[in-house]
Amino acid sequence: MATESISPFENSRIAVFPGSFDPLTAGHYGIVLRALGFFDKIIIAIGHNTDKKAFFPAETRLQMIRDIFRDKPRVECEIFSGLTVNFCRQKGARFILRGLRTSADFEFERVVAHVNRKLYPDIETIFLLTAPEHSFISSSIVREVLSHGGDPTPFLPPHLELNKYLKPN
Ligand code: ADP
Repeated sequence: MATESISPFENSRIAVFPGSFDPLTAGHYGIVLRALGFFDKIIIAIGHNTDKKAFFPAETRLQMIRDIFRDKPRVECEIFSGLTVNFCRQKGARFILRGLRTSADFEFERVVAHVNRKLYPDIETIFLLTAPEHSFISSSIVREVLSHGGDPTPFLPPHLELNKYLKPN
């Protein structure tokens, strides 16, 4: 019997899905639902960047995401700052989940994945290609539609009442 200590996380497949999620869109939602098929737990990690002005405050995004996945106990959400790989280590996660829409996404993600692997050799980045119907959806499109008084419902996860999270002007 081996005596070396085994991490309690060793056998569980925990993925961190890092991003801004300002807000989480139908595209992100689709990626998480599909990834639940092969991860035990997915931690949606809202990157907190003090230099970047967000549309939705991080706390609001956290609440929104927790509400969206309230019937999915294997999906958690947290706000983090600093390096994604440090957050992964802290959570015992060996996988980073990212979504790909275009070759431009791929070129960007390729570099980030290599850097993360150098910083944390045990980490594996798993890419899921977006569903074709979500390939044009982005958080910035949702923000754009919202700021011009349009209805972003078709680009958001089902049953999300966005008004609940919008501050009255
Ligand atoms: P970031 O600021 O890190 O790009 P985002 O919240 O915009 O954060 O995106 C987080 C992840 O989700 C990224 O991997 C991004 O490519 C992916 N993503 C964004 N929009 C979609 C979409 N419509 N379909 C699939 N993946 C997406």
